[in-house]
Amino acid sequence: MIEDETESFHFPDNLDRPTWTAPNPVDCMKYVVVSGGVLSGIGKGVTASSIGVLMKSLGLRVTAIKIDPYLNSDAGTMSPFEHGEVFVLDDGGEADLDLGNYERFLDVTLSRDNNLTTGKIYSEVIGKERKGDYLGKTVQVVPHITDEIQDWIERVAHTPADGTDEVPEICVIELGGTVGDIESAPFVEALRQFQFRVGSKNICFLHVSLVPVIGVVGEQKTKPTQHSVKGLMASGIQPDFLVCRSSEPLLPEVKRKLSLFCHVSEEAVFSAHDVSNIYRVPLMLEEQGAIVQMAAHFGLDIPTERPLLRDWGDMAQRMDALSGEVRIAMVGKYTGLSDSYLSVIKALQHSALHEGVNLSIDWVEASNLENSNEGTDKHESAWSLVKGADGILVPGGFGDRGIEGKILAAKHARENTVPYLGVCLGLQIATIEFARNRLGLKGANSTEFDEDTPHPTVIFMPEGSRTHMGGTMRLGSRQTNLQTQDCAAYRLYDGEMEIHERHRHRYEVNPDLVTALEEKGLRFVGRDTEGERMEIIELEGHPFFFGTQYHPEFKSRPGRPSPPFLGLVKAALGRPV
Ligand code: GLN
Repeated sequence: MIEDETESFHFPDNLDRPTWTAPNPVDCMKYVVVSGGVLSGIGKGVTASSIGVLMKSLGLRVTAIKIDPYLNSDAGTMSPFEHGEVFVLDDGGEADLDLGNYERFLDVTLSRDNNLTTGKIYSEVIGKERKGDYLGKTVQVVPHITDEIQDWIERVAHTPADGTDEVPEICVIELGGTVGDIESAPFVEALRQFQFRVGSKNICFLHVSLVPVIGVVGEQKTKPTQHSVKGLMASGIQPDFLVCRSSEPLLPEVKRKLSLFCHVSEEAVFSAHDVSNIYRVPLMLEEQGAIVQMAAHFGLDIPTERPLLRDWGDMAQRMDALSGEVRIAMVGKYTGLSDSYLSVIKALQHSALHEGVNLSIDWVEASNLENSNEGTDKHESAWSLVKGADGILVPGGFGDRGIEGKILAAKHARENTVPYLGVCLGLQIATIEFARNRLGLKGANSTEFDEDTPHPTVIFMPEGSRTHMGGTMRLGSRQTNLQTQDCAAYRLYDGEMEIHERHRHRYEVNPDLVTALEEKGLRFVGRDTEGERMEIIELEGHPFFFGTQYHPEFKSRPGRPSPPFLGLVKAALGRPV
């Protein structure tokens, strides 16, 4: 099944080719507002990111804002069960997973302020009220909340995001939820007013909706979209563009009908039907003239050469031409919901694409591996997945459910030389397993799971808060220093001795045990700048047994897979790491 190495393909380091200059410097910021109707989860985030890619292909600097109308300040306190993965940004912001889509699609680095929530806006306004900024006034949703939203958007839109200090030229704003939700009303109103603040030529509204296909003949139904556009118009926003999610390409007469009933020109109704892979989404919109329409709206030129789209076309084709397979067992606790591990999946996909093979993820519910389930079908099938895998991945996590199962999976990987990658909790798990079974420390554990463990192997970090859960973890980008060149991390990170990756944890490996663990072969090859905090583990004499206290998945990009994930996939394929 393993493919010929010579077929391995390498993308250019940067999707933008530096020799090419932008034909389109814009006079002032252009905003693309993406709203959604009918139901959530139809791919609004991917549509918004794809529009960003098309705008970027015009040679423009693009940034993105996600509006989440819930009351939480950020996603950090929400369960991945309810809300999908918490995406961590360089600055330590704990954000909605759509920020990950933007970073990956647009190759930008966003900040916590790029994720706007009701919680953030209200606390800003209430803080100002207490200071006396509105002295004498009655503080109200309109204009105080709506002004604050507009100020926030303008400020963040003008913040550089591409690693240079150049101000972006296009800002894609995605409005979370669906139009008509009570809590999104102030944001819709703010965006309505925003047209007058920035001028209608500098803003466009794009509505993402669903066209269900029903019946034996597969009729494409427009009514749900008509209703959701009516809702939007009742709020004072007339969409300029419609993107309709559907299983099939929209028929011309369906586009015509939508145009008629939604007051959108026929050329501005785009079909977002099912395609073979995600890289085809921007190309599908492009083929229907999305960029011609949007450039005309904003008065922008379209350059004859758009190398960025060529790169996307290459990726889409390569994705369709994968052969062979790598099987990774993902041993976690939110295995029913792939959104809970979105960036981990993306990092694996980027790595498999890099190696030219299909990715097959076997979801293993960690608790099913535990001895207490012995003799049951779920125990047997969970173990057959783990034993049949080319590589084992234990991703990040919180809470004690499934911990013993994860420890058994790490033990299996260690003893049977199966490639293993442990991310954050996965590093802690591997260390606990090693302490128990190689150091003979019976009952070794993390104090997160057993406060009275006789051998605290993973402990609460001194700077953490035990009373406040929001934003108090060790978060965001931190430096890891490699301790030696003689390790897989050095090779995977292209000979870098200083690595910058993103963190999100409260517990860490107990520094008092490090010498004993190292003596038995568990090497702590990456540490923080003080040398006190363990960041990377590698096991001596094992082809690939690797753990990171940080979360490398958040910085993985198409064409630039995250090094530890690439290491896992390569090792799982039996290729040199
Ligand atoms: N629960 C562990 C900690 O807080 C691991 C966190 C994680 O995997 N993100 O340290």
